[in-house]
Formats: sequence, structure tokens, C-alpha cells
Amino acid sequence: MQYKTVTAPQKKSIALVGHDNMKPNLIAWCQRYSEKLAAHNLFATGTTGTLIAQETGLKLTTLISGPLGGDQQIGALITEQKIDFMVFFWDPLEAQPHDPDVKALLRLAAVWNIPVACNQATADMLITSPLFDLAYPKSIPDYDSYISQRTQ
Ligand code: PGA
Repeated sequence: MQYKTVTAPQKKSIALVGHDNMKPNLIAWCQRYSEKLAAHNLFATGTTGTLIAQETGLKLTTLISGPLGGDQQIGALITEQKIDFMVFFWDPLEAQPHDPDVKALLRLAAVWNIPVACNQATADMLITSPLFDLAYPKSIPDYDSYISQRTQ
């Protein structure tokens, strides 16, 4: 795979997802950083986004609920370079009906070099990093060269 450098903008598109047992934790985290989060474009799966909006007043684009396809919607946005950062508090202690979608989302985040926080400590560290507040040059797969290699 060839890679190229793109710049994740200062104003980021942030995906927020929490499994049911983790939602209180994610909502509390959003409350704590609501001022900072309000300066970015926020996306969330259906239930997570509705609850965050209710509890924090933050404005979000709400996708379909995770088990009904919301994780896949976020994955698709990642492939289109429309998500720059993800906070995904998945539940390590309970099986999910949409586990293949959870894995697929985490895989796409790794493919496209998206910073992902899977728990509160990581989310705290990432959002307080000096890099969070800057435009950030990062490496992603070079799709044009990938296709041209596969079609020669
Ligand atoms: P939800 O989906 O926000 O609709 O609960 C999250 C998930 O389970 O992936």
C-alpha cells in the first residue's frame, strides 16, 4: 500500500458512539468537554446522539442507531474522509448483537489512521493533547495509486 499525507482540519468532525452500559460514561465525558466539543462537527449513532443532545445541549448529526446500521454509517463516513476523530466507548463486558459492525468500524478507523478513544482515560488524553487543537498532517492510503496498481 502506498500512503499520502492529508491534513485533518483544526475544526474536526468527531464521531461519538457508546454502547448501552457505557453511555453514562460517554455523556459525562461530553459534559466535561462540552465547551471544547461545541467548536467541532459532531456525529453520533442514534441513541448515543439523542442522549448527548438531551443531556448536554450539544448539536450533533445523529445517524441510525448502532445495531440497526449506525456503526456502518460512521465507517462509511470514515472511508469518505468525513470523520477525523472518534470516541467509541464499546463495552468489553457484554456481547453485542452487532459485533461484526463494531469490529468493522474499528478496522476502518485503523485503515484510515483515525485517532480512536475506546475508554475515558484515552479520551481525556487525546482531547487535551496539543495536537487536538491543530490542523494535523497524517498519512492515509493513497487510493488513486491503489486503484491504478490493481488495474494495470
Ligand atoms: P446507539 O448505537 O447509539 O444507537 O445505542 C451505539 C452502538 O451500539 O453501536
